[in-house]
Amino acid sequence: MKSYQTKFPYRIVPEHEKKYQFTTGELHKYRGHYYPLVIKPVTDAACDSVEIAQGHLVIHSSKPKNPAANAAILDEWYYHQAKALFAGMVAKAMLNARPYIRTAVPRLKIKRMLDQWGACNPRTGLLILNLELIKVPDACTAFVAQHEVLHLKYPSHNTAFFTAMKTLMPDWVEREKILKEYYPV
Ligand SMILES: [Zn+2]
Repeated sequence: MKSYQTKFPYRIVPEHEKKYQFTTGELHKYRGHYYPLVIKPVTDAACDSVEIAQGHLVIHSSKPKNPAANAAILDEWYYHQAKALFAGMVAKAMLNARPYIRTAVPRLKIKRMLDQWGACNPRTGLLILNLELIKVPDACTAFVAQHEVLHLKYPSHNTAFFTAMKTLMPDWVEREKILKEYYPV
């Protein structure tokens, strides 16, 4: 935390400290981009949905003036996008790590975490990715997926772990730097 505070003249507010108001024009993140928000009222809760249209993040909401309701609609959409995207990234990371890992593809769980991007338990075969990764560039999410997958072989951050990481993803340090500096959890 301290390193980027001294490096930049301003502090990027960690995502978990943000208080979104869900007002028109407010910037929301998705896959490394910032989209101004548009709230469009709908009459039926069954029509609650989210879309990216013409550079805007559009929430179709049956409770347009209710920030908590809008947050829930957006969160559900984030979760569905993350589920499809992250599963593909874990599969790709497993394929990439084939020289090292011969175990089955881990079960993937996506949940919001306050202090870590991911976790992987080689004993249970459960890999967890932070839902917040849906807001960061895909290259950074792929880095987290590769890192966690490698824990199936190397549970700790020892020299062997980092040697393998360098081989599998030569630019992982740059990807981690972007994540830490621009997208603090
Ligand atoms: Zn780790």
